[in-house]
Amino acid sequence: MTKTYTIAAIPADGIGVEVIAAGIEVLDVLAEKTGAFRFRFDHFDWGSDYYKKHGVMMPADGREQIKDHDAIFFGAVGAPDVPDHITLWGLRLNICQPFDQYANVRPTRILPGITSPLRHVSGPELDWVIVRENSEGEYAGVGGRVHQGHPNEVATDVSMMTRSGVDRIIRYAFKLAQSRPRKLLTVVTKSNAQRHAMVMWDQIAAEVAADFPDVTWDKMLVDAMTMRMVMKPETLDTIVATNLHADILSDLAAALAGSLGIAPTANINPERTFPSMFEPIHGSAFDITGKGIANPVATFWTACQMLEHLGEPDAAGRLMRAVERVTADPSLHTPDLGGKATTRQVTDAVIAAIRGDN
Ligand code: ATP
Ligand code: MG
Repeated sequence: MTKTYTIAAIPADGIGVEVIAAGIEVLDVLAEKTGAFRFRFDHFDWGSDYYKKHGVMMPADGREQIKDHDAIFFGAVGAPDVPDHITLWGLRLNICQPFDQYANVRPTRILPGITSPLRHVSGPELDWVIVRENSEGEYAGVGGRVHQGHPNEVATDVSMMTRSGVDRIIRYAFKLAQSRPRKLLTVVTKSNAQRHAMVMWDQIAAEVAADFPDVTWDKMLVDAMTMRMVMKPETLDTIVATNLHADILSDLAAALAGSLGIAPTANINPERTFPSMFEPIHGSAFDITGKGIANPVATFWTACQMLEHLGEPDAAGRLMRAVERVTADPSLHTPDLGGKATTRQVTDAVIAAIRGDN
């Protein structure tokens, strides 16, 4: 009997709906082509429209409804008329944190046919995976406000890091670095200025490194890291950083690789106690919603990450090959890449490339 993967599809807001629809079409064709497995997509209409009707971004038993799925395929959250902290905390973080998806994994490469704004860099010289701590740190939600609106108002956001939380993300990054050809890891902190948690982070990195003697690693301060990413991208491979630092570095990385519209991300629960979640990095982009020009490449790439996670590396490779065949052709670039192609045209071209691949 053919294996069936059950996937919770949460397209959510804006272009999230358009790119997830494209991703599902492509995944179904891929499954049909390989013949080895198929997908069952269960659709959940959570997001900002749901919030406007029900006052919450997802139902109280929402996580219960998706906890037994093999993976979550997520679009984007955010709407112009709902505050960002409600959409973000109410849906995305409301899944990531309780589901212990503590490793946020963001591959970055310059795909064929796509030009980096770094003129001195060609494709093979920029091939990174950024591992972002996804469960605590600056986004732990710890803090508060007193005397709101008064001149003596005080507000804090505490960056909370635990030894176990730091150990597990650094260990994950070392393992990932070990699995890549160059076995190279850069550990990013700001331990010169942040004297407590960041110093602990450095110490734990040195301890974990002892378990990975075959991985070459170094430490960078996050400010210097932004320069190195631009000036010497070829010296980097796997990168690990805190929730906030990696959030910023990965937007920079996405821009250096050509467009936010191609950048994917996986929220991984490495122990598989709950499903992992796969999404494009970009947001809901209401400026282009409904125009049919959203770039679906980020979503196709994160679908590859999902296939890897499901244990289907051959299918993942096949899909990535198809995507690269399409990006190589500038007439199939969407406007974010300087082209004129539509989501429909790119999706059809990827489907044709999958069907034509032997
Ligand atoms: P958020 O508030 O969640 O960050 P956003 O609506 O600000 O979401 P972003 O994803 O941050 O949108 O993207 C910024 C801009 O980049 C968008 O307004 C859009 O013009 C462009 N963009 C983002 N993703 C895509 C895409 N997949 N295809 C084409 N353009 C995109
Ligand atoms: Mg934005």
